[in-house]
Formats: sequence, C-alpha cells, structure tokens
Amino acid sequence: MFPSDEDHLRAAIAEARAAEMEGEVPVGAVIVYNNEIITRGQNRVLRDHDPTAHAEIVALRQAGLHLSNYRLNDCTLYVTLEPCAMCAGAILHARITRLVYAADDPKAGACGSVLAVMNHPQLNHKVEVVSGLLAEECGPMLSNFFLERRGKKPLTPHLTKEENAGGKDDDKEVVSEG
Ligand SMILES: [Zn+2]
Repeated sequence: MFPSDEDHLRAAIAEARAAEMEGEVPVGAVIVYNNEIITRGQNRVLRDHDPTAHAEIVALRQAGLHLSNYRLNDCTLYVTLEPCAMCAGAILHARITRLVYAADDPKAGACGSVLAVMNHPQLNHKVEVVSGLLAEECGPMLSNFFLERRGKKPLTPHLTKEENAGGKDDDKEVVSEG
C-alpha cells in the first residue's frame, strides 16, 4: 500500500521539529514523486543567513536537482504551514501538481489566508490544494514555539481555547518566517 497524505505530512512535521531543535521557526516540507519522498526541506533562514530559505524553497531546489528538471510536474509538496507569497510563487513556477499543507498562516499565508497567490484566477497554472490535514498538530507546534520564545507557558494542544486561558491572542501568533 502506498503511503497516505498523512504519512507524507508526518515526514514534513519531522523536518519542522528538526528545524525547531536548531532554533528555527518550525516549518518542514517534503516533495513526493511517484509515491516516494524525493526531497525534504526545513526552514533554515537563520542558519543560512538566507531570507529565502523557507522549507518549501529548500525542498523545491533539491527536487529540481533530483529530477534534473526545473519543472516539477506530477510532484506533490507537503508542508506544515500555509505557504507565503514567495513560496506560493515558487510552487507555481515549479508547476507542482498538488499542495498539501496543515496549518493556516493568518499572518502571511498566500493560499487564501492573507493573499490568494495560489490559484489566482489570472494565473495559468492551477494547483490542487488540500489544507487543514493535521492542522491540530501543526498549529500548536508553531504557537508554542512563539510562546516559548517569549518565555510563556506553552498551550496544551488538545485543550479548548478556554482551558488554555491566558493564551488568548497569542495563539494567533503564527509566523511569517515560514
Ligand atoms: Zn515561504
């Protein structure tokens, strides 16, 4: 049996966790071709001193090399956070066929949350987008990263907002450095 979207997204989560261990905003991505993960990327803007080193860009660059093609037709990109405008643009240029992402990014998401770069009606290439898968896991991972960075108590992922009282606006504090 082939791995599911969830299996692949879990591989992206592992990349996000690895990024977090290095002090980076935890965002991870993998690219799948013929049901196989061909590349993995994690956010590495701090480590590389590179504002473009988002998880998606890192994975896209490697996938191009892997397939010896700058077009990544028939590839699916899995990422733990809604892509920003830069990454959405790169995904379109790469002709990625499917995009699966977990958590929405209310600060910088370009798949509808803030901007709608992905599948903009005036752009030619259309990407099949699946969102919200494992969002209950990826959303808190990001929120907690920012809470901890500011010395606050992490939220417990499975509690309701009320039970997590004290978090309030903080749980909106998702990224822009995805
Ligand atoms: Zn990005």
